[in-house]
Amino acid sequence: MEKWPLGIFTSVGAGLGAGIGAVKELGVPTVQLHAPPRDMATPEKAAEFKKQFDDAGIKVTVVFSGFEGESYADIPTVKKTVGLVPAETRATRLEIAKRNSDFARGLGCDALGMHVGFIPEGKSDPERAGVIEVACELCDHCAQNGQHLHLETGQETAEGLLEFIADVGKDNLAVNFDPANMILYGSGEPIEALRKVGKHVRSVHCKDAAGSDKPGETWGEEKPLGQGEVGMENFLSVLKEIGYDGALTIEREISGPEQKKDIADAIKLLTDLRAKILG
Ligand code: MG
Repeated sequence: MEKWPLGIFTSVGAGLGAGIGAVKELGVPTVQLHAPPRDMATPEKAAEFKKQFDDAGIKVTVVFSGFEGESYADIPTVKKTVGLVPAETRATRLEIAKRNSDFARGLGCDALGMHVGFIPEGKSDPERAGVIEVACELCDHCAQNGQHLHLETGQETAEGLLEFIADVGKDNLAVNFDPANMILYGSGEPIEALRKVGKHVRSVHCKDAAGSDKPGETWGEEKPLGQGEVGMENFLSVLKEIGYDGALTIEREISGPEQKKDIADAIKLLTDLRAKILG
């Protein structure tokens, strides 16, 4: 496959994302996929979806695990509800994530992605030890499936992320770099962060955003690609600099006709920038 194949973050079945029909229409060769609900995350369904994607010539680069009960309503709610951080759901969610890793293997996909949640930063925080423990267990499970585990950026600063990766200490723990999330959460300047975590980056979201006037307290605002503060040309230049050669996966977290239009515009923008930067 060519370097930096374009992709879309999508889903199978109803709900989030652009949908496989739209992916075919837009003509991109890769997707990242939201893991489907439990009744669809079976080996039989995985085989069925794999055939659909294979027939369409589309490669699934990452399967993203999400969990029932997560809410991105505002930043405090994210802290309380997202990922493997909330203690009361940690064990259950670990099992779901393992199942999604198995589902991804069924699709022939070598990466499981997720928001781990707001990782407690204090080294002595007992909750931090618990999150590290399940991250280790999930990495081991992914390794058995020939996969990396990709941490979605956003909640942590680059330094916080590097520290967590070092503490987990597993070779197959990697980063899905989302520059817009750094802006949305107010967790640092994305380009500088990309340079810092660069060697761990195995997938990216091409997404844009404008910052909040109260960074870290309230959300910034997601924007169509190229209309926010990321600076897409600079972003791609630094991806080249760090030696990244994976997919450029467009993520546009709205729905309806505007999502489709923005994704089509993003494909055009990335196609032009890729030609300019890779030559
Ligand atoms: Mg993202």
